[in-house]
Order: sequence, then C-alpha cells, then structure tokens
Amino acid sequence: MLRPRRLRMNEGIRSLVRETTLNVNDFIYPLFVVEGENIKKEIETLPGVYHFSVDMLEDEIKEIKDLGIKSIILFGVPESKDEVGSSAYDNEGIVQRAIRKVKEIDKDMFVVTDVCMCQYTSHGHCGILKDKYVDNDETLEYLSKIALSHAVAGADMVAPSDMMDRRIEAMRNTLDDNGFENISIMSYSAKYASAFYGPFRAAANSAPGFGDRKTYQMDPANRLEAVKEVELDLLEGADIVMVKPALAYLDIIREVKDMTNVPVAAYNVSGEYAMIKAAAKAGLVNEKNIILETLTSIKRAGADIIITYHAKEAAKWLKGEI
Ligand SMILES: [Zn+2]
Repeated sequence: MLRPRRLRMNEGIRSLVRETTLNVNDFIYPLFVVEGENIKKEIETLPGVYHFSVDMLEDEIKEIKDLGIKSIILFGVPESKDEVGSSAYDNEGIVQRAIRKVKEIDKDMFVVTDVCMCQYTSHGHCGILKDKYVDNDETLEYLSKIALSHAVAGADMVAPSDMMDRRIEAMRNTLDDNGFENISIMSYSAKYASAFYGPFRAAANSAPGFGDRKTYQMDPANRLEAVKEVELDLLEGADIVMVKPALAYLDIIREVKDMTNVPVAAYNVSGEYAMIKAAAKAGLVNEKNIILETLTSIKRAGADIIITYHAKEAAKWLKGEI
C-alpha cells in the first residue's frame, strides 16, 4: 500500500526528507541609518527595528555578526532633501558614512546598499521630475552617481530599487568605467507598486509628496511583465535579481527562479513583517512558528536570498538560542 504518512512518522524521518531548510546564510538584514548622534530609536511602524545614528552602529554590527548574519542592506534617512536628491550621492552623505563605519567595525560584513532617490528628493519620487513625470533617462545619471558613491565608500554590492528602464546597464557602465568591475549589482527587478510598503515609508520618510509610483513600479496583476523585467536586467548585467514583495508574490519568485540561473532574492517587506508582529502581539498566532514558516515558504518558492527584518530573531531560533 502506498502510504505517504510513513515519511511523516517522527522528526527523524521528517528531517531526512525535508526539502527546504532555512539557514542564516540566506538572510540579508536591513539597517536604517539616520543623521545625528547617540540615536538608537525603535521605529514605530516596525517593532524591534531601529533607527541608528552612525556612531551607534558598533554594538548592532557586532550583534548581527555574532548571530552569524554576514550581510546587511543599508537604507539612509537624510536630514536634507532637494529636487534632485543630492544628499544621495554626497560622499559625506548618511549612507556613505555608514558604509565606512560598518567596514571599520567589521571589514568582512558584506555591505549592500539600496540605490534610489525617494528618501532624498523633496517630492519623494524615485527620480528626477519633469512636469510631474519621473524622467527616466535623466534619472539614470543620478542613480549611477549614487551607486558610484556607494562603491567609493566601500560597499560590496549595490541594489537599485527605482524601477527605471535601463538602470542596470547605466550603473554597470559607470562602475566599470571607474574601476569597480567587481562590485556586484542586485537588481530589484520585479518590484511591484504594493500596499505592503507602508511601514517602510514611515520608517524611511519616503512617501511620495503627490501621486503614486505606478508609472515605474509594476502592476500587482502582472506576471509576464516580471519575466520581461528580469530578462532585461540580466541582459543589462544584473548579478542577482529580486522580487519584491515576497509573500503575495510567491508565484513570481518561482517563475523567476525557473527562468534564470542567477541567484534570486526576495524582499520580505515591512508590511509583511508588521502584520505578523501585530498578529503575534494580539495573541492570534504563534510568533516563532509563523515567522519560520513564512521564511521557509519564501525559500521554498525559489528565493536563494531573503532580505528580512526577521533575520536576527530567525538567526537566534535557528541557532536554538531562544
Ligand atoms: Zn525609491
């Protein structure tokens, strides 16, 4: 008799036949850096996640390293904003200083940087505005400048999240022309215009001042468009492609994984995190179990890399520390 339950009899056999195993090496932990001094302030919309001033990064980086997490992605919250987001490519900008500080604390910490303009522009859009429309090709020059400034500061990988056309090509050329041919690019290839970004926008103070981002981010209804975006990014030289958000887009992660031989990243975004935290706080779900199940499902869908605010707690659970 065929009885699939034989392979579920006890933990011994279940662990032998388990198809997907989470590992701390899967995670990239997002860090928010702010101007000022002596700041470690919990972000209201993201419980358990903090704003750090550059001088306060040391303990955090050491803790991350001790947990076995080897990669972070930096997001900057600048003090000054203008029409062209000039603090985004300033060598003394918040992210550039944070990169140098992290490398000073731990030269082996793999530093990824988010490359975009929305935190830095007065209008909150991800590029240069012309008649209230984000001008694609002019924005490419700025994005390239931002990526280059991150590389100069010591970043290991840049991750453009703007969704302009041809930005990977522009950035790759700029990096190569300046001797940074070994700096890799992780492209936010299929980034959807999602409602799951709400808590991040509050954390990064990056909500658009008018309108929305639907002229550059993707329509949540589209699958083939994700395939097209990934194909173009690969042609332009992306080393890693990303799907964002993760949970409502597990089918897209699988689609992308099946079509390419480059590593696939998924961004387990702020809204996904905040909803679980709220549900756990309300006593509706078992927090540890639901987080590990969520992360496992993202990996099972095809993600090789998971960017997640849960990274630290998941690392502790995987180590058996709590
Ligand atoms: Zn942006």
